[in-house]
Amino acid sequence: MNPAGGTKWETHRTAFMIANQRSETLRHSPDSAGFFGSYGGVFVPPQLETAIAEVRSAYETLSRTHEFIEELRRIRKHFQGRPTPVYHAARLSRKLGKTQIYLKREDLNHTGAHKLNHCMGEGLLARYMGKKKLIAETGAGQHGVALATAAAYFGLECDIYMGEVDIAKQAPNVARMKILGARVIPATHGLKTLKEAVDAALVAYVEDPVDQIYCIGSVVGPHPFPMMVRDFQQVVGHEAREQILEMTGNLPDIVTACVGGGSNAMGIFSGFIDDPVEIHGVEPLGKGTILGEHSATMTYGREGVIHGFRCYLLQDEAGEPAPVHSIASGLDYPGVGPEHCHLKDSGRVKYVTATDADAVEAFYTLSRNEGIIPALESSHAVAHAMRLARETPDVPRTVLVNLSGRGDKDMDYMIEHHGIGDEYGI
Ligand SMILES: *Cc1c(COP(=O)(O)O)cnc(C)c1O
Repeated sequence: MNPAGGTKWETHRTAFMIANQRSETLRHSPDSAGFFGSYGGVFVPPQLETAIAEVRSAYETLSRTHEFIEELRRIRKHFQGRPTPVYHAARLSRKLGKTQIYLKREDLNHTGAHKLNHCMGEGLLARYMGKKKLIAETGAGQHGVALATAAAYFGLECDIYMGEVDIAKQAPNVARMKILGARVIPATHGLKTLKEAVDAALVAYVEDPVDQIYCIGSVVGPHPFPMMVRDFQQVVGHEAREQILEMTGNLPDIVTACVGGGSNAMGIFSGFIDDPVEIHGVEPLGKGTILGEHSATMTYGREGVIHGFRCYLLQDEAGEPAPVHSIASGLDYPGVGPEHCHLKDSGRVKYVTATDADAVEAFYTLSRNEGIIPALESSHAVAHAMRLARETPDVPRTVLVNLSGRGDKDMDYMIEHHGIGDEYGI
């Protein structure tokens, strides 16, 4: 006799049902004009409107077909290596108190981060639409590498626009993109970083929206991109929900993820949005609260428009996007996905911050105590979980962290600036 048998079966059945359903909440957002509450929409020059409308109608039709869904499933399983596991960080948890920390291991997704989840979706859409070339901008090169991977898989050309300054700083990722067959095109105006790369990519897109498709790197940009990227990332939340139910028999008390543009966070949050679970997004507070030294958009921003959509925005007095900083280059964006803005205003998700120093501590602590070197972006979410555990050392609760990527890309920087982290050992 197994007294837990009945409960376990119920748990499995619930997990199965949920994994095959779209969340009730998400099904109704955005509205038909692409708004999540008052955020999102389409704010683009007329030359781009037609191209974006074409992407939207293609996505709405194709993404519902059996063929598209089946092919994406096959790709996820056989090329990306999904499902990625959920791992109980038992040693780290024991060190901090009674909170049990679980990690959704997106660092084990092919190419080492969650970004490939939406790049493969975008690549598949491009192939169904008969496009010849994927184009995008990249800052640190992470999105560029993921998109170049997708292009190689689908046999499509790939142009990645990148600021000249970033090209000089991110040599390994530039080499990766080139080895994968992408062209890396320097943006040479202005500050020669991410914003200029976006400008250059959009100019190129307007010039040839027939053969090319613009593939955005997060849940940002004009509608349908925030919705589409969220839908492609939902696999993370669906898998994680099923896995944690199987492992613990219960839902977690808190689900958390770092928020740059917000794609890995929307991915895991979407699995739990209709559940009685607390959800925390973690923004990068960088070196502190002064404008220019952080990238905590939702905590310190006010409404504005950037890159074709309305969102909370870090801006200067003239309303221009402010300079931003984070030790994690994937998090330093002055805007944020419109759905996150809506989730903040509605109170469903709580947004908190972690500093560069918090992320550094989490980076070494997880490495030393679990044998997992996290990306500096993901380290912000780990830092928040560690803070929760320390705040209530006697309360047994469960925190599920989306470990969005692995830290190999950050190792040179960390060794040069912070050493090998001896002080975080056993
Ligand atoms: C790019 C990146 C992020 C930030 O992007 P989101 O869209 O906010 O998820 C987070 N983690 C890793 C590992 C990244 O590469």
